[in-house]
Parts: sequence; C-alpha cells; structure tokens
Amino acid sequence: MTSPTTATDRPVVVVTGASSGIGAASARALAADGWHPVLGARRLDRLREIADETGGTALPLDVTDAASVETFVGRVRDLGNVRGLVNNAGGAKGTETVMDADEEHWRWMWESNVLGTMRITKGLLPSLIASGDGHVVTITSIAGLETYDGGSGYTSAKHAEGALHRTLRGELLGQPVRLTEIAPGAVETEFSLVRFGGDTERADKVYDGITPLTADDVAATVAFAMSRPSHVNLDTIVMKPRDQASGMRFYRQ
Ligand code: NAP
Repeated sequence: MTSPTTATDRPVVVVTGASSGIGAASARALAADGWHPVLGARRLDRLREIADETGGTALPLDVTDAASVETFVGRVRDLGNVRGLVNNAGGAKGTETVMDADEEHWRWMWESNVLGTMRITKGLLPSLIASGDGHVVTITSIAGLETYDGGSGYTSAKHAEGALHRTLRGELLGQPVRLTEIAPGAVETEFSLVRFGGDTERADKVYDGITPLTADDVAATVAFAMSRPSHVNLDTIVMKPRDQASGMRFYRQ
C-alpha cells in the first residue's frame, strides 16, 4: 500500500527517481537530517520499502507523463510544508553516434531528464516559494558540462537540464529559493544497466579497474548543500572519482 498522504511536522523534500541509486540514497540521507522524504518513481514496490525505512511517503510518478506529474504534485501539496526538491529522475540510453542516432533513445532521454525536470519544478515552485525557504537540487552530470563520442543524446539532454536549472537562478532572484546543481562523474548505480538495456556484462565494464563514486557519496553532497544556512547557496558542485579526469578519460588499474 502507498504510504498515507498525511500532514507532517518535518519539512517535506520531494525526491524524484527515488526507487534506486542516487535518489534512494538521497532520500535516506535527507531523512537522517530531519526531512520527510516524498519518494516518486515508477517502481512503487521499491519506493514503499524506502518510504517504510525512512518514515517517508511513496507516490507513483512518471515524469514523462504530464497527467502523472499533475496528480503527484497535487498529493505533495496536500502534505504541506514543501521546502525541498531533488530533481534526480533520468538517465541515459545507448551510445550511438549522431550518424546512427536512435530517435527513441533521444526521446526517452529528453523526456525524462529535461521535460520531466521542467514539469516537476514548474509544479512545485509555487509551494517552494510560499514556504519562505525553498531549495531545488538538480542532479545533472559532467555530461552537462562536456561532450563525448557516442554520448550526444545524453550530453545534449544534460546540457539542456543544466541550462533549465541555471536559468532559474536568475528568474528566482529575490525569491526565498536556493538552487544547487550537482554534476557527478561515474557513480555505480543501475545507470549503466539502463543505458545498455539490461546487459550486465557491458554495464560492469564501465566500472572495471576504477573506484567509482557511490550513490551515498552523491547523497551526502545533496544533504550537505541542503543543510547550509538559508543565505548560503552552493550553485554548482562537480564531483568525480579520483580515477576519472573527464567523461571518457579514466585511470584503470
Ligand atoms: P538509476 O539507479 O538508474 O536511477 C534512476 C532513477 O530514475 C530510478 O529511480 C528510476 O525509477 C528513475 N526514473 C527513470 N525514468 C523515470 C520516469 N520517467 N519517471 C520517474 N522516475 C524515473 O541511476 P542513478 O545513477 O541513480 O541516476 C540518477 C540521476 O543521476 C540521473 O538523472 C542520472 O542521469 C544522473 N547521473 C548519474 C550518473 C552515474 O554515473 N550513475 C552520473 C551523473 C549523473 P523508476 O525506473 O522506478 O521510474
């Protein structure tokens, strides 16, 4: 059963894509800091487990579906006291070159990373502003800061998501909302499994011979940014494993 939608004394933070990886770890880290996490994603069974563990609320969410976002936002508003949003849902599909671009992969990446972030942010900004002390954290990627061969669908989507997020810094100037972009390099999650359509062997190779970041490493950074005093805005945080210099440049043992 979905956790009940009830009012909470704790400040509410919405975490999208909280059924695995960075989102799940962020929900846990923020709950430990006193937040009430509202977990959104498509795999509700997984969300419920994390909601039970963190005392949070699990709600179905497909960020690519405007009706799903509208229902989700309505239920979040009913909880009241919405002060945080972690835009995390998204990911990559495929590694085709531009010459071999796969439109379905592109559409999936743009819908989930870019339009999904726009829909959720647009829906929750009025509540975040009204709270008097809101914070939006967006998990982009180093793919939002550079390009690499075979990555154009993902790098273009993450550049666009970063542009959307950074635009808000100006548009919300004077409003009580902070904006933090976190751009990680390689983090070992289900990311590569999704990118390679469930091919475990190919996914594992991404992390071969390196010590990648963990979801908890990124979650700790999310929690750090959100626990600074209200007047302190950490604008952009780039974090990579020591073994990674750029998107495709690794030191492998
Ligand atoms: P992950 O383990 O695959 O998690 C992705 C999450 O996004 C899942 O919870 C998934 O939940 C959710 N999601 C995907 N499509 C969705 C949709 N349409 N509606 C709602 N939720 C959706 O990968 P991750 O590494 O934690 O990725 C989290 C974010 O970090 C992504 O934005 C990714 O681009 C970014 N990132 C990852 C890395 C990395 O190396 N892992 C590096 C830089 C940035 P459901 O499938 O249950 O819906």
